[in-house]
Amino acid sequence: MHHIPRLMVLGNYALQRGWDPAQLTAWFHEAFVDGYDWVMLPNVTGMSQHADGGLMATKPYAAGGAYLNRMSDYCGNCAYDPKVRVGPTACPYTAGYWAFLDRNAEALRDNSRMRQPLAGLARLRDLEATVEQERLRGDKPP
Ligand code: SF4
Repeated sequence: MHHIPRLMVLGNYALQRGWDPAQLTAWFHEAFVDGYDWVMLPNVTGMSQHADGGLMATKPYAAGGAYLNRMSDYCGNCAYDPKVRVGPTACPYTAGYWAFLDRNAEALRDNSRMRQPLAGLARLRDLEATVEQERLRGDKPP
């Protein structure tokens, strides 16, 4: 499976919602034909979940719908809109991205690569509604 569906769709979704990195890595081990430690530990535990303390990547690999839209052709026929944060057409990746940043803002404050995203977070007027919407969306891991 290509990098985008594996890390930017599945891993990104889990990261945004704070799923347990060890459980997620175990699932990737079982679900993928290349589910070996040398593939999954750096790619899933490290790169996609930032659960290695930043050894693999200098910032979390979280991204909103705009990035997915740019890197794929998935959004064209989707019922959600990658530009919308709140409401029935809010893209769960876009809203999930801001909810993730809000939840981890304190931990990421000293990361220089997160300065710009956190400044964007501070400017969001609908942050409270976005976070609440994503809290209600639930999406606990199976
Ligand atoms: S708009 Fe739809 S296809 Fe595009 S990132 Fe959001 S949920 Fe995925």
